[in-house]
Amino acid sequence: MPRTGSDGCAMPKIFKVMRVVLSGIVLFCALMAPVFPVQQPGHEAIKIVDKPIDFGSERQKLTLEYRRTHQDPEAQDITIHPQLIILHYTVTPTFTATWNYFNQVHAEGAREQLAAAGDVNVSAHFVVDRDGTIYRLLPETWMARHCIGLNHVAIGVENVGDNDKLKLTPEQVAADAALVRYLAAKYPITVLLGHHEYRRMEQTKYFLERDPKYWNTKSDPGDEFMTAVRAKVADLHLGAPPQ
Ligand SMILES: [Zn+2]
Repeated sequence: MPRTGSDGCAMPKIFKVMRVVLSGIVLFCALMAPVFPVQQPGHEAIKIVDKPIDFGSERQKLTLEYRRTHQDPEAQDITIHPQLIILHYTVTPTFTATWNYFNQVHAEGAREQLAAAGDVNVSAHFVVDRDGTIYRLLPETWMARHCIGLNHVAIGVENVGDNDKLKLTPEQVAADAALVRYLAAKYPITVLLGHHEYRRMEQTKYFLERDPKYWNTKSDPGDEFMTAVRAKVADLHLGAPPQ
């Protein structure tokens, strides 16, 4: 067999130099690979559509007032350090109607208990539409009013629908799970709960409500939805409210 260039013996010097350089590049890439983001199965980047509601100076002032009344009289800002994620459903049947409602700065006067407990309107950081589109309505580390006793540590995720004619969809289950995964990678999230489970958090270190008479009963989003979402993020080993 005639010798060829494949073993390098008959290779001109320039090709030998090139081979050394190429080997070096391959080795460099292999060493540097962990530095660059690698997508793992089930850890795909998610798409979030920013659609901010009015959270200007007036709403920030009202949020701080709520915080001083219900959580800490010494509070100086509306920043939160997220440790919980609370899932909800809207009952309001469309994303647009939900956004319009949350965009109002002042609490609805017709909701007497709500309005009496604070003038700042309810909202949530995220709204997931029925097709799974994820909208972000305000910065994740600002306080939204969505769950008594836990607003100071919880990110709220609303889902357009209810538990009757507009049952939550498989697309919303998948989107909520992806969002939980995204948030758990970003913040030290320890507990995932449904709004209907929030009173089981009363004896935990997270619960903070200065008015013992201020509480309500919720049914959203329901056990079926929570079970489905939890199954998709079981590998995160997030806690649940005590039984
Ligand atoms: Zn709710």
